[in-house]
Amino acid sequence: DGRVLRAALLRAAQRRGLRRSSGRARLVVEGGTVRGVVVDGERIDADAVVVSAGAWTPDVLAPLDAGVEIAPQRGQISHFTLPGTDTTAWPVVLPPTGHYLLAFPGSRVVAGATRETGAGFDHRVTVEGQREVLDHALRVAPGLGTATLAETRVGFRPATPDGAPVVGSLDGHPEVVLATGFGAGGLTVAPLAGRLAAQAVVGEEPEVPLDEVSPQRFTPR
Ligand SMILES: Cc1cc2nc3c(=O)[nH]c(=O)nc-3n(C[C@H](O)[C@H](O)[C@H](O)COP(=O)(O)OP(=O)(O)OC[C@H]3O[C@@H](n4cnc5c(N)ncnc54)[C@H](O)[C@@H]3O)c2cc1C
Repeated sequence: DGRVLRAALLRAAQRRGLRRSSGRARLVVEGGTVRGVVVDGERIDADAVVVSAGAWTPDVLAPLDAGVEIAPQRGQISHFTLPGTDTTAWPVVLPPTGHYLLAFPGSRVVAGATRETGAGFDHRVTVEGQREVLDHALRVAPGLGTATLAETRVGFRPATPDGAPVVGSLDGHPEVVLATGFGAGGLTVAPLAGRLAAQAVVGEEPEVPLDEVSPQRFTPR
């Protein structure tokens, strides 16, 4: 459950001193070096900036002309409720169709998801997307036909051309560390990616080699 996970991570980080500013951040670039960010009119100076803006990363990096290639891959995912049915112990189902089913406590089943490359930042639930999700779900679990369609959510996976994440410092800008490009696996790899980004910020040797995920692979040679 991404929302529960996000809330838990924020609480844990705040206990360790995180100060959270909400708003659209933009980089402060002075003399060719990134000096911090401005968020909602407030300037926050920093020795290093970690850019983890998902599919919006190219927008944040625009002032640096960094050439990092990340594009949104839209995903539509549906939540069903089954009143009176305890779904707590239901398994995760990964049929060989690319879609999946998983259950949460509270009579809730989730089915998804579309993988729409080239859809851009289009937040709509589309007829085609909804049909795809329902078709796949009902093929595997026809009993869901009587469930309530509670909601369909839309998200944007940050996709790179080679499918690999982007973690490490930017070529020519050691003060800018990227942690992005996680595609369909961001929840899974986030703990490791976060630690690797932190190691890059404080100048520690990364605990795994970053060559294959380095942002420097986007630098024209
Ligand atoms: C339908 C669907 C199902 C998925 N299921 C799974 C799964 O089961 N397991 C898994 O591991 N992964 C899953 N993923 C993938 C996962 O959600 C992503 O890989 C992950 O969210 C990427 O995390 P992120 O923090 O890099 O980017 P995001 O989650 O996209 O977060 C980036 C954030 O940056 C913010 N932002 C952008 N620009 C700015 C700015 N200028 N200033 C301030 N903030 C800004 C955005 O608003 C956003 O909140 C799924 C994705 C989708 C769409």
